[in-house]
Amino acid sequence: MGAAIRHFTAIGPGGQVFTVNVERDFRYDPSRDLLACAHCDWSPSLLTTQRIDAMAWDHLAGSHDATRGRTDQENESFRRARRVMLPLCAVVSVVLLVFLQS
Ligand SMILES: [Zn+2]
Repeated sequence: MGAAIRHFTAIGPGGQVFTVNVERDFRYDPSRDLLACAHCDWSPSLLTTQRIDAMAWDHLAGSHDATRGRTDQENESFRRARRVMLPLCAVVSVVLLVFLQS
């Protein structure tokens, strides 16, 4: 099982919130994300040209009748990790460049 890195939520009848997660397997296959519904066993193949968010909204609306209050959120810890990693990578490449030129 991968880690959920992004959540699509929408509100259905009776105010219930439905969630579709984008999961990423950081250990085995970080290049391919997985879409999985938290309420049924819907987990489509992503080998399509359709956008991930369009597929998530389609499913929420089509299968759970959830069309209101759509939100699209990145996982908080994932976002934090990326915010730390990007500057770090930039610093490392600058240091490498300087080092190679001297
Ligand atoms: Zn579902």
